[in-house]
Amino acid sequence: MNLEFGEGCSLKEERDLAILSGTQAISEKIINPSFFDLHFFTGLNDLIKGMANNRPDLIIVDFELDKSKSFQTIELLKKIPSSSLKDVPIIYYFNQTCKNPDLAVPYTLGAIDSFSWNDDFSLIHAKLKRRAIDSRKLLQLSQHSTIDSLTETYNRREFDLLFEKMWRISCRKKLPLSIVMVDIDYFKQYNDHYGHLSGDECLIKVARLLKNNAQRTSDIVSRFGGEEFVILLFDIEADIAEEVVQRMEADLETANITHINRDLPHRITASFGIFSLFPHPDMSPNQALEFADQAMYRAKKQGRNLIYCERSAPRTYKSAE
Ligand code: GH3
Ligand code: MG
Ligand code: MG
Repeated sequence: MNLEFGEGCSLKEERDLAILSGTQAISEKIINPSFFDLHFFTGLNDLIKGMANNRPDLIIVDFELDKSKSFQTIELLKKIPSSSLKDVPIIYYFNQTCKNPDLAVPYTLGAIDSFSWNDDFSLIHAKLKRRAIDSRKLLQLSQHSTIDSLTETYNRREFDLLFEKMWRISCRKKLPLSIVMVDIDYFKQYNDHYGHLSGDECLIKVARLLKNNAQRTSDIVSRFGGEEFVILLFDIEADIAEEVVQRMEADLETANITHINRDLPHRITASFGIFSLFPHPDMSPNQALEFADQAMYRAKKQGRNLIYCERSAPRTYKSAE
């Protein structure tokens, strides 16, 4: 199953337009390429693949082409696993003079705007430029409200929302979930010795390494507070979660971030607590989080630089459920 819970992306100067069209003539006729990077696709699947790692600012859809596919493009775009494409504003264009009733269709489908082949060039260009700028602003605003600016992981607020959503899906589909709490060891002593800015650098490195090992579209890495992170591994049982966390620990060892203001080893380490379960409605997400936290504290108590895994047995569901 491919479930998507959210994803950030990086930004560049030019605005990317993904164009789903039967013909490339649209570029020569109406779009000034100096402000835009144009990406042409004749089919939706190619667009999804082609833009998977490069979120466009706008998606422009040929009305006639979509009409021939029973107007399914927007609905399918909203359903695709790559969340970065889900929220891209969509604009339709009409190849020729359209019939009046058609003019309303794009908006009923969920498009934000439309234009016609016959419209004045400068009007079309101004419209697309305005829409592309607004789209980028909206993306930045949404990133600011969901992403921790230092570590570029999800902030606590967004984590709470995503966790609720993931919990409900796991309950409904009776799928396992692993929650990992990560706390950097002796981090106060690191700050005391190397200074707060170096401490920030260290947090960035640790966050990057955690994210590198939690790359499925449904994996959530979040800054829980200070030098603590929480990771949600959807549809992952304890054994696999342990493997994932072992890879994180191994990468932390390889990163070898020197920390001499502590006992051996003289490098940054972390304590990991895993709680794996099959979520059920009798438990709340916060209770599960508490168990993961307790597992992490056991790792601390047993000497730090450790992984402690706690699991709850699969629950037997009544057939009526
Ligand atoms: P333990 O091994 O028990 O986890 O000890 P610790 O020193 O890591 O834990 P403690 O809770 O005593 O200290 C956490 C430190 O994390 C204290 C605080 O200054 C530091 N910290 C929290 N947020 C930030 C931040 O954004 N940047 C930096 N540089 N330090 C931070
Ligand atoms: Mg802590
Ligand atoms: Mg700590």
